Amino acid sequence: MKIGFIGLGNMGGPMAANLAKAGHQVTGFDMAEVEIDGVSMAASAAEAATGADVVITMLPNGQILRAVADQIIPAMTAGATLVDCSTVDVDSARAVAEQTASSDLLFVDAPVSGGIGGAAGGTLTFMAGGSDDAFATASPLFDVMGQKAVHCGAAGAGQSAKICNNMILGVTMAATCEAFALADKLGLDRQKMFDVVSTSSGYSWTMNAYCPAPGVGPQSPADNDYKPGFAAELMLKDLRLSQQAAESADADTPMGELAQALYAQFVENENGLGMDFSALLPRFEKRGRR
Ligand code: NAD
Repeated sequence: MKIGFIGLGNMGGPMAANLAKAGHQVTGFDMAEVEIDGVSMAASAAEAATGADVVITMLPNGQILRAVADQIIPAMTAGATLVDCSTVDVDSARAVAEQTASSDLLFVDAPVSGGIGGAAGGTLTFMAGGSDDAFATASPLFDVMGQKAVHCGAAGAGQSAKICNNMILGVTMAATCEAFALADKLGLDRQKMFDVVSTSSGYSWTMNAYCPAPGVGPQSPADNDYKPGFAAELMLKDLRLSQQAAESADADTPMGELAQALYAQFVENENGLGMDFSALLPRFEKRGRR
């Protein structure tokens, strides 16, 4: 397939590289200067989208997605498919879906889970919203970039699944980090803590696959000075999206609300900006109860 790929950052870069490795013809564009193996670079988003069967976007937020959609939709060939893999608000996903429909294009919102390891290894999970036809077109590409794709429903359903998943992720990371800090103060060795929890009922993706303690568990951003990975500000963005959704759906989400407040404090007042979201552990380490 001829693929346009816009947004070649921590996630988009390796996803585009995997598509090229699988034999697809990938033309990429990013605001920043980047080089990706096997991907030829265009001078603009519109140029990357021109003539593509499928255009994939992997961008920071809904506002940027809407701006990029305005640039690429007029350049796309009728019948082509836009697949947005960014995590954005449900309203932006639905707005872009409407815009594509009126331009005779197909649309899938297909945010991902699995982090940069999943992006590099081609083991992401895609949660997709859109028509059956749009999902069928994107499916072979999901198979290259990921290990599983769930068709969750109509446009916006992928983003709904994603923000629920990430609300769990934010809450779980906060719990894992505060438990490590408590274990430290109780004199427990961190490796022992990992060995127990990762095989006991406290196990989770944040403990087992993305352990926030340096030198413990599999390689993670903790082993790289907490460079993202998944940035704390992106976690905060997702927690805000889930609280926004909970507000409009009248859902009671107190743990999500607490996690949002914690990440807001970390990012805005405690030098968490630019750190991985697992850097809550050194944040807790430095603090006491009183
Ligand atoms: P990133 O900041 O590394 O990448 C975003 C890229 O978009 C950057 O390279 C940036 O230069 C580019 N960009 C911004 N505005 C642009 C524009 N107008 N035109 C073209 N390019 C533009 O972020 P990321 O970690 O790759 O995350 C991308 C998306 O994936 C986000 O929505 C995030 O929430 C989601 N996500 C991230 C992870 C993760 O672990 N990093 C996991 C799941 C989902």
